[in-house]
Amino acid sequence: MLDPRDTILFDEIDENGPQSYSRTFSIPAEDLRRDEVIGVGPVSITANARKGELPGEYVVDGSFGFTADMSCSRCLEPYPFASSADFHVRFEPRSETPRKLDEEVEIPPDELDVEFYMERAIPLRHLALEQIQLSIPMKPLCDESCLGLCPRCGANRNRESCTCEEPMGDERWGTLREIQARMKKRES
Ligand SMILES: [Zn+2]
Ligand SMILES: [Zn+2]
Repeated sequence: MLDPRDTILFDEIDENGPQSYSRTFSIPAEDLRRDEVIGVGPVSITANARKGELPGEYVVDGSFGFTADMSCSRCLEPYPFASSADFHVRFEPRSETPRKLDEEVEIPPDELDVEFYMERAIPLRHLALEQIQLSIPMKPLCDESCLGLCPRCGANRNRESCTCEEPMGDERWGTLREIQARMKKRES
């Protein structure tokens, strides 16, 4: 049976006032849809949910933390990653009359943390997944100073210095060689 405390129920808040939740989830790396994520450790989340000021609005404040095994986007080596942060999300009812497509919509900065809901139930797991996705960098690096792979032979320059000459001339060719080296490395 589904544990009702896995889910923030707006009806429950209406009836009994603010609610607090604290859960730990195991989330498979595939669910994050990021190639760089190899594995995810237990994800803990706490959330306090209450009614907001606007009609139909609910506010959720909380924090989350998790660890993961990531692969560096420069050298492709796995490295440990950890993140924890606070979050703040406002849920507002999805408007019955959708905004016209040709209407210019400017989203004010304080609407960035707004989500529109249809169902009056928000699974905590969904919140946790969202926060993890936001906390994973666009280009995960094992170290800011990671030297990456040699664009010619694919050697990991953090560990070995190869005898390839530095590519001369056009930078664009260097990038292409780097991609080729990565592909070679992935295949092996
Ligand atoms: Zn690296
Ligand atoms: Zn090399």
